[in-house]
Amino acid sequence: MGSNGKILVFVDLPGGEVDETGRGLLSYGARLAGILDSPWEVAVATVPDFEQQAAFGAYGTPAITCITEGNSLLDRPALLGKNIAALAQATSATVVFLPHNDLGSTLAPIIAHEMSAAIMTELVTVRQSADGVRLSRRALGVRIAETRLWDRTRPLVATVPTRSLSQVLMATVRTTVPTVTTWSPETPLTGTAATINGRIPPDPQTVDLTEAEVIFSAGKGCDPATFEMLKELCKLLNVSFGVTRPVYDLGWTGFERMVGQTGRTVTPRLYVALGISGSMHHVGGIKDSRRIIAVNSDAKAPIFPNVDEGFVGDLKEVLPRLLKQVKAGIGGAP
Ligand SMILES: Cc1cc2nc3c(=O)[nH]c(=O)nc-3n(C[C@H](O)[C@H](O)[C@H](O)COP(=O)(O)OP(=O)(O)OC[C@H]3O[C@@H](n4cnc5c(N)ncnc54)[C@H](O)[C@@H]3O)c2cc1C
Repeated sequence: MGSNGKILVFVDLPGGEVDETGRGLLSYGARLAGILDSPWEVAVATVPDFEQQAAFGAYGTPAITCITEGNSLLDRPALLGKNIAALAQATSATVVFLPHNDLGSTLAPIIAHEMSAAIMTELVTVRQSADGVRLSRRALGVRIAETRLWDRTRPLVATVPTRSLSQVLMATVRTTVPTVTTWSPETPLTGTAATINGRIPPDPQTVDLTEAEVIFSAGKGCDPATFEMLKELCKLLNVSFGVTRPVYDLGWTGFERMVGQTGRTVTPRLYVALGISGSMHHVGGIKDSRRIIAVNSDAKAPIFPNVDEGFVGDLKEVLPRLLKQVKAGIGGAP
């Protein structure tokens, strides 16, 4: 096998759009092509329309291969995986990249099995070194980094965590007009594979905080009454809740809810810090959140320089009002 085989990036189009995960994957693909000195292209399970092609082109996609009738296979991962593996082999791709979401994490082992490939899930960094390519992932709830060496003698199938993908969006990639081709296997891949009838999204109340989309966190500025209000608010808004170390120390919640250097490192879309001073031990665990909002009664609290939006206010006033508004908004008792 040539050392610089092609990279095939599988992009799903949920709701017909190249969503943030897809855009992150394209940025990742372009970046990897540079690191591995390999050509790259995209595989999709549908024929993208003009707008979708432009979205691919905005992230430098050189070529798109559409798997014939791939859409009908989206809920039949075993067959879709076989198709992607067959496409990779037909196009001499030696690396297949997928997002580590529901679909990608299901497809990866199937594709790896079909291609007799090495597999690395939740890949975070890729580095060239003298003895091969070093692939690193976060393991044990992102607490340790595991690095493996890939010598390129076998193909590689890898998934990238969606939280990492949202952080690699590169606006500076050269825009392209991708070539679009369709592909169907020479021998149609059929079979009686299991079908997925529906997907159950994770419950924000119980999901691991490292995977949470929106987190409202309570600091020592919360008293028992405001803490209960915050928990109620989280339930009503269907978001996750976290705490700082002093709140955990009070025994109000389990260790799995503690955010920060010794607690969970989180990367939500939105982090709301309520009554949190902003110590480095806490901020270190939230700094990669997409957007941070803080409420603190002290205008000089160190959290404020670290947030996107800050409000000076007393939680004893802010939380009851917020709760009232949310209840009114969702049709509950005002
Ligand atoms: C080795 C080590 C590891 C650590 N790891 C972690 C960790 O993983 N996570 C973590 O969180 N901490 C960690 N800590 C502790 C950390 O240093 C801080 O002590 C802690 O983060 C402070 O928590 P806090 O902001 O809730 O409390 P405080 O620092 O006491 O801040 C409370 C804030 O609430 C505000 N406030 C008070 N009343 C109100 C009100 N009514 N309305 C609005 N605001 C109000 C105050 O102005 C203040 O800013 C660690 C410490 C060490 C030494």
